Amino acid sequence: MENVGSLLLPWYDRFHRELPWRGVQDPYAVWVSETMLQQTRVETVRSYYPRFIARFPTVSALAQASVEDVLKLWEGLGYYRRAQNLHRGAQQVMADYEGQLPSDPARLRRITGIGPYTAGAIASIAFGVCCPAVDGNVIRVVSRVAGIREDVAVPSVARRIAAVAADWVPAARPGDFNQALMDLGASLCCPGTPDCGRCPLSSLCDACSAGDAEELPHKSRATPPRTLRYDVLLLRQGNRMLLRQRTETLLQGLWVFPLLEGEKTPAQLVRALRRSLGLGCVYARALGAARHVFTHQVWEMRLHLLDVSGPVPDGYRFATADEINALPIPTAMRRPKAMGLECLSGAEGEPPCD
Ligand code: SF4
Repeated sequence: MENVGSLLLPWYDRFHRELPWRGVQDPYAVWVSETMLQQTRVETVRSYYPRFIARFPTVSALAQASVEDVLKLWEGLGYYRRAQNLHRGAQQVMADYEGQLPSDPARLRRITGIGPYTAGAIASIAFGVCCPAVDGNVIRVVSRVAGIREDVAVPSVARRIAAVAADWVPAARPGDFNQALMDLGASLCCPGTPDCGRCPLSSLCDACSAGDAEELPHKSRATPPRTLRYDVLLLRQGNRMLLRQRTETLLQGLWVFPLLEGEKTPAQLVRALRRSLGLGCVYARALGAARHVFTHQVWEMRLHLLDVSGPVPDGYRFATADEINALPIPTAMRRPKAMGLECLSGAEGEPPCD
């Protein structure tokens, strides 16, 4: 009798995606690629993965690096907590596992940054362990094929989906099978309208025969992101700008230009800076606006250039253009950074910034 594996693996052998991390069985490399792929498009990861592996080819090389170097290489990939956890996890593997990732999914999950999905992916792809790796693509395929129509955000439903996925994984080629499910979810069984006509699982698929695949998986409505309004301050002192290393959970460890919540007049900004950072300053000009969308927040930013005098406040640093380029700075600061560099390039004379 036909089962999911016997239908899916021949399809995978013929149509699998060519990706830089495919065929790689080094557990560390699988860990890196699967961490990068969380909440990030495959096309984006294509260029980051080879650079990361070239710079940090082993767990040991990553463990010995500074977190700032790791964040710099991650710059633009987003969800920076992943990079920090990967770094911390590598140090843990060196300290507790003699530099070798374990093959058991339960032991893998004890390592910082390795959740159930990544543990399943590493165990099955690198070690051939027969276990599932359930990501968003797999949830979609399983809910459609098995006809699970309840809210997949409910823990008992999520557990059911994981149990079905575990039941499907064949003892032979579990890593290929898990990657085949991910590929199917990314290509034919995509969100919105799936391409059931070309799908190897159509003969088994409940949603395909019921005609409601487009409505699955069923998810309760997510809370819309909160909008925060900030004044972004480009504080220039000669040929340097002031930056702060964030300690907040969001973008922790990355460098940003100072932000003040709310929308203030130039006079209010000058007063606020004197009060909060002890800096004397002269408002130079407004530099336009920028917007950045995170998963749970939207930042609406107004940019301002001010010339400042006074000592460096605690937790901040003044940086030249070269130093700014070497610091890990998040994508949310892309426009402020470009404007800041432009202002510094005109720092000897009148800044060409408006
Ligand atoms: S038959 Fe259609 S809905 Fe079912 S798994 Fe294939 S693409 Fe998805």
